[in-house]
Amino acid sequence: MLTLEKMYSMGHEEVVFFQDKSCGLKAIIAIHDTTLGPALGGTRMWQYASEADALEDVLRLSRGMTYKAAVSGLNLGGGKAVIIGDPKKDKSEALFRSFGRFIESLNGRYITAEDVNTSVDDIEHIFTETNYVTGVAQQYGGSGNPAPYTALGVFRGIEASVTKAFGSRSLKGRTVAIQGVGSVGFELAKLLTEAGAAIKYTDISERGIQMMKESFPGAKFIQPSEIFSTDCDVYAPCALGASINDDTIHQLRCKIVAGAANNQLKEDRHGVILREKGIIYAPDYLINAGGLMNVSIEFEGWADSKSRRMIDTIYDKTLAVFKIAEEENISVNRAADVMAEKRIESIKSLKHTYLGKVDHRMPGQKRRF
Ligand code: NAD
Repeated sequence: MLTLEKMYSMGHEEVVFFQDKSCGLKAIIAIHDTTLGPALGGTRMWQYASEADALEDVLRLSRGMTYKAAVSGLNLGGGKAVIIGDPKKDKSEALFRSFGRFIESLNGRYITAEDVNTSVDDIEHIFTETNYVTGVAQQYGGSGNPAPYTALGVFRGIEASVTKAFGSRSLKGRTVAIQGVGSVGFELAKLLTEAGAAIKYTDISERGIQMMKESFPGAKFIQPSEIFSTDCDVYAPCALGASINDDTIHQLRCKIVAGAANNQLKEDRHGVILREKGIIYAPDYLINAGGLMNVSIEFEGWADSKSRRMIDTIYDKTLAVFKIAEEENISVNRAADVMAEKRIESIKSLKHTYLGKVDHRMPGQKRRF
């Protein structure tokens, strides 16, 4: 399919290709939908096998951001950027500053942040050239590392799921099995332990396992291949996507699936199977939106308390999605999509697209160090 045809079928407003020979930059920015506000989404750096693969990824990811922002109640649209290159060899100050100038040229229709293989340091270089960037270090007025905030949102999603399953929000005495104790999984383990839950965990990295042993000696390590079938109340996928697939779904011995990983269901039909098996599924893009909510606060001047208050709303939002699923007799993942689509459609009638005018800049975006 040609690019414009793909954009048409997926509903993208704008896709921009950038290159700068002087520093080796090759990047694509996809703006999916700006009905609710400027398109926000991180910049991923990856050695894509082909330009077509990079385009596919940026189209899919930017569309996902539209749904995440909409269902989270944020006044943001969905966008994403990919830089084609080897993050180990091709990163430089010049490359990220050049990329920052291209973002500036979009006049606020797209706002970036960190993503896979981009760090706070890279964000600093982008920030030198444009204010349309979030996830800036706290010492420069930004919100810093999003992982603890993402974990807080996941924790609220787990609380909502436990409420639905057992009639009480308390996690005391519940067992949660975490797949992947990296940045988010480890923070989630902290919150669950404080709440009195028992932890089982797995990881493929020795470093993660060692950190867990030191910080949570009472938590039980499970082999990666056995995490799906371990007895637990909640299975929390916090590693990679597609954790729930044809091989794993029938091994599950949990009452709830709720975690941080993006695209946990390999296919939408796995959400239907979970429902048939009586397993509650908390939609990934809703309960992992804490990081997005956190960076969105940067526009009005970031504060930890404001961010936490906003993230706490994930509890009620998750319960609202469960209710729609029940009332409409659909899977929870479909119910989250419906909630997002309804919100966008209702606002579309008021305002067609975000125009990116300078007076749309919110206070706090004029930060410079
Ligand atoms: P991370 O790379 O810090 O941690 C992932 C962990 O999973 C690593 O420790 C890795 O060793 C482990 N892992 C990978 N494959 C595994 C496997 N097969 N079995 C067991 N462990 C495995 O990443 P993160 O920032 O903690 O993000 C975790 C997930 O949450 C990702 O899917 C990410 O896209 C999603 N997410 C993260 C954020 C955020 O704020 N960091 C926000 C939204 C969504």
